[in-house]
Amino acid sequence: MTTTHTEGRNGANPYQMALEQLAIVAELLNLDPNIHEFLKYPERELTVHFPVQMDDGSVHIFTGYRVQHNRARGPSKGGIRYHPHADLDEVRALAMWMTWKCAVVNIPYGGAKGGVMCDPKKLSLKELERLTRRYATEISVIIGPESDIPAPDVGTDPQVMAWIMDTFSMHRGYTVPAVVTGKPIPIGGSEGRIEATGRGLVMIASRCSQMLNIPLQGARVVIQGFGNVGSSAAKFFHEAGAKVIAVSDAVNAVYNPKGLDVPVLLKHCVRREGTLPQYAEGDIITNEEMLELPCDFLVPAALGNQITSHNATRVKAKVIIEGANGPTTPEADRVLTEAGVFLVPDILANAGGVIVSYFEWVQDLQSFFWSEDEVNQKLERVLISAFDDVVRTAKTRKVDMRTAAYIIGVGRVADAIITRGIYP
Ligand code: GLU
Repeated sequence: MTTTHTEGRNGANPYQMALEQLAIVAELLNLDPNIHEFLKYPERELTVHFPVQMDDGSVHIFTGYRVQHNRARGPSKGGIRYHPHADLDEVRALAMWMTWKCAVVNIPYGGAKGGVMCDPKKLSLKELERLTRRYATEISVIIGPESDIPAPDVGTDPQVMAWIMDTFSMHRGYTVPAVVTGKPIPIGGSEGRIEATGRGLVMIASRCSQMLNIPLQGARVVIQGFGNVGSSAAKFFHEAGAKVIAVSDAVNAVYNPKGLDVPVLLKHCVRREGTLPQYAEGDIITNEEMLELPCDFLVPAALGNQITSHNATRVKAKVIIEGANGPTTPEADRVLTEAGVFLVPDILANAGGVIVSYFEWVQDLQSFFWSEDEVNQKLERVLISAFDDVVRTAKTRKVDMRTAAYIIGVGRVADAIITRGIYP
């Protein structure tokens, strides 16, 4: 299969990275080579080029994708990313990671991802709506509550999900809330969904802190990214008594070894990039310097390909909890494992989002909604039991946490494929 260009991501291709991670575990699992071959490719890839009328009257052609990697365990599930670098290989990698993510936390889904190559920050609200409604129309041939269920990702939010739900419902002639998750509450969204990924990261951090004897109270935390995931993680770390010593957005990173005033940053800086230095009492540092700060917990919650062979030897965190998808390259993984860093991989660490998406879908299908407490309790049960399974596998197989998570995730998908058999 031809792979797409790699500019804008420090040269690394996320799909190649995903294939490399799969190859490592295929060998360890003694995976049937035919199944390995099958899993290398997405089952379906839809590319769409579509026109959007801009506010100035001009028409711009955008390119988008919806990739369904595997559907052996259930309908495919995964977010939609609006980003200038959301090209086909990035979406393929993200779709594959969704397959393993849903399998490792044992929710009955396969994996998918969508993307539109655009910079949502440069679009007006009306342009964003027209782009979303047209993209939703283009991919409506393969999405649906029984087939493939999108959700938010980088550059998209509950409002974008509302437009997708509305567009899909208009075509059907009736309301179909379960076609997307991460919707606003009044139209079938779930309590707790917005904060679920960040909440899940801190549930896992808390489990790590018990296991590794690093008290969360007073722990030094560095969080890269102050979007939905990074900012919620900052909130829950702060509530747990940890000291958030550095945070960043796409423009700046700020550092204060005594701890930043998280409530003030949450009040003023969420969704307002570039404003961190205005409200944080601390030094402005670069994103690269931030990843190398001495700390107890490092949470990369921005984009992929951040901890690489170039900087891994300088990472001083005791624990890394991956909020983003694909922040660490396989070479960096090897360096970190050797250095004894405890890394909780993306497909486990940030699964809180898709777990509560699953709860949202279930609530929509049964038209019966749960309280936030109920959602959070169920989230904790599913996530922590998956975490404990991965820890056990890491111990018994004597492998790092990513490999252990892959052994469970890929193993479950392979089982489903074998059990179903090859059609026809
Ligand atoms: N985009 C999120 C992820 O990468 C959520 C996906 C979902 O809820 O379907 O896990």
